[in-house]
Amino acid sequence: MGLLMIPGPVQLHERIIKAMCRQMIGHRGKEFSKIFEYCIDGLKELFGTKHEVYIISGSGTSGMEAAIASFSNVKRIACVDNGKFGDRLCRIASKYTEVDEIRFEWGKSIELERIEESFENGSEAIAFVHNETSTGILNPAKEIAKIAKKYDALVIMDGITSVGGDVVKMDEWGIDVAIVGSQKCLGCPPGLAAVAVNERAWDYYNEKAPFYLDLKAYKKKVPDLQTPYTPAVPLFYALEEALKIIEEEGLENRIKRHRTLSKAIRVWATEAGLELFPQLNEYSSYSNTVTAIKMPENVTDKELRGTLQSEYGITISGGQEHLKGKIFRIGTMGNIGKAEVVTTLAAVEDVLMRKNAIKSALHAAIEVLKEL
Ligand SMILES: *Cc1c(COP(=O)(O)O)cnc(C)c1O
Repeated sequence: MGLLMIPGPVQLHERIIKAMCRQMIGHRGKEFSKIFEYCIDGLKELFGTKHEVYIISGSGTSGMEAAIASFSNVKRIACVDNGKFGDRLCRIASKYTEVDEIRFEWGKSIELERIEESFENGSEAIAFVHNETSTGILNPAKEIAKIAKKYDALVIMDGITSVGGDVVKMDEWGIDVAIVGSQKCLGCPPGLAAVAVNERAWDYYNEKAPFYLDLKAYKKKVPDLQTPYTPAVPLFYALEEALKIIEEEGLENRIKRHRTLSKAIRVWATEAGLELFPQLNEYSSYSNTVTAIKMPENVTDKELRGTLQSEYGITISGGQEHLKGKIFRIGTMGNIGKAEVVTTLAAVEDVLMRKNAIKSALHAAIEVLKEL
């Protein structure tokens, strides 16, 4: 059996696999509504919101597009791009309205002055990624929302790899719309996206949203505890079980586990003589759910990831786009623990030590993991 250590899809908890092996039920019946209600309530907790949550059968990107398309009745939207998913937000938004792309080199931190400037120049909304999975940076959500509020602008946040794994307080921070995907920190298979929406967001409603992703249709069905179209029923079984697991673990413990696992990887990397990829400033921090590490000079992506795969059956991620071969990424999302992290680091260490690229630092990671 292999080990999947990428930033989504994640390795599944046995209970979640089993939850899906059940007969279908009608999606207009009471049994489905019960599951639906449990899922919505659980997700609200993870988003940190008292407002509504809509669940779409589609990957995370369907949630990003539903959020932007449904609430894009603005003259101009500021989109923050300091990684692959920020770039995706910009490209989605440009289909619906004018975009002011606030671009930073991938791996660099956001400068808040540039965001303020965009509002000064007439942006009426902002979309950004909280945890930029492609570079391993946690962007300053609270600070961005605070600036947006000064200009009374709408705030849309991609929380796809933070919700359920790190602290997200949508209402408290002043986020109007937030998105999560099932296959990341929630620990589910891919195929569901959820969008949390407060009342204010509806002032920005755009009726030109694509039919399937028009959140008004989802809103209309909430009183019936249903989705507008046939949902991916087995994935709802999985989500229900995943949320039960989260409830049993406790959100605080879960966040601590995600933080400690990623800290262990960072400490290992630094001790081993590797360099972390993100360039932080006073507002940003390292991601607590995925760690991006610079590839050593004399090692190729194939040598590292290929060998890990063929000799150990362990899958980690490489860099995306121009970062291919320049970085590697290890996800610490969902329901994994110490064993998976130690195993992965031991294997990565073995492969890199054969190339004389690092020194052993496993003990340093194990020391950190004692916090759990
Ligand atoms: C994975 C991810 C997405 C996209 O999700 P898909 O499920 O691949 O559509 C969007 N944003 C972030 C930050 C992600 O990590």
